Amino acid sequence: GALVRPAADADERAAESALRPTSLAEFEGQPRVSDQLGLVLEAARHRGAVADHVLLSGPPGLGKTTLAMIIAGEMGAPLRISSGPAITHAGDLAAILSGLTEGEVFFLDEIHRMSRPAEEMLYLAMEDFRVDVVVGKGPGATAIPLEIPRFTLVGATTRAGLLPGPLRDRFGFTAQLDFYDTPALEHIVHRSAELIEAHLDQAGAAEIARRSRGTPRIANRLLRRVRDYAQVRADGRITATLARAALELYEVDELGLDRLDRAVLRAVCTRFGGGPVGLSTLAISVGEERETVEEVAEPFLVRQGFLMRTPRGRVATPAAWRHLGLAVPGGVTG
Ligand code: ADP
Repeated sequence: GALVRPAADADERAAESALRPTSLAEFEGQPRVSDQLGLVLEAARHRGAVADHVLLSGPPGLGKTTLAMIIAGEMGAPLRISSGPAITHAGDLAAILSGLTEGEVFFLDEIHRMSRPAEEMLYLAMEDFRVDVVVGKGPGATAIPLEIPRFTLVGATTRAGLLPGPLRDRFGFTAQLDFYDTPALEHIVHRSAELIEAHLDQAGAAEIARRSRGTPRIANRLLRRVRDYAQVRADGRITATLARAALELYEVDELGLDRLDRAVLRAVCTRFGGGPVGLSTLAISVGEERETVEEVAEPFLVRQGFLMRTPRGRVATPAAWRHLGLAVPGGVTG
């Protein structure tokens, strides 16, 4: 689970930043998104206009922050970064918006976790480049419209469905980022290896890519951990055999499941008889936050065919029992 979460410590963050592609041309693995976004930005540049607001949705670690940085770079515009949970009052948002410069890109991560009043302020800002600043209290309060610079909002969310319709509708362009295929991840791992000067052969890259659960952030993290192992326990060269040994040590299995994923599966199978079990109960039983289980472990386990979402809760499939080396109980189908 820890593998996919945004880095908590400064070293990890710096290591991650160093590997970010800085142009659309370098942003591999999402050709449709790159093509469409490239067109949107080029058209805006031609018109000498500020680019339309962009909504990026998809699981963590697929490149939403990276794309926001690329958008600013391609537009030659400065970038301002904030997140939904950081904006607790509409006033926080008003302060940010009125401090933007003309054409600035405003990246708002976890936009679905913004407070209601801030959300309403954002509607107006996106549409009319205006905020209403409320002065006074009670019946005497008045809203004073304040013009703000034209800006491009880049909103990011793990699921577009979490956004209220009116907010979604105010984006000129929406991109759904998908999990990356293994060849794309191999490219990314090779590129990263070059940047960190790691010796990585083709088979080693394939091994890391295969276990990265479709996610560039994980691919880069696994690469760094495998590089550590190669330097300390071997001659620094990353081969398939070495990558396998290293990833075994870090408890990432051959399908990319990590400790949290297996804990979730084991809980469903052994503690809850295969399910159905509710998400909150499941999260408590593995000692994780509900959000982490819901946004990180579950989508991957569902995609791998280990877990099913049913109206009554999560259910383990026969593949889950087998992956854990357990006998599939009678009556479990799917
Ligand atoms: P998100 O904002 O969606 O959680 P990030 O943009 O922070 O994801 O990306 C996580 C890491 O993955 C970054 O370090 C970045 O270098 C890498 N990354 C993401 N997308 C790509 C890509 N298309 N090509 C190469 N590296 C990528």
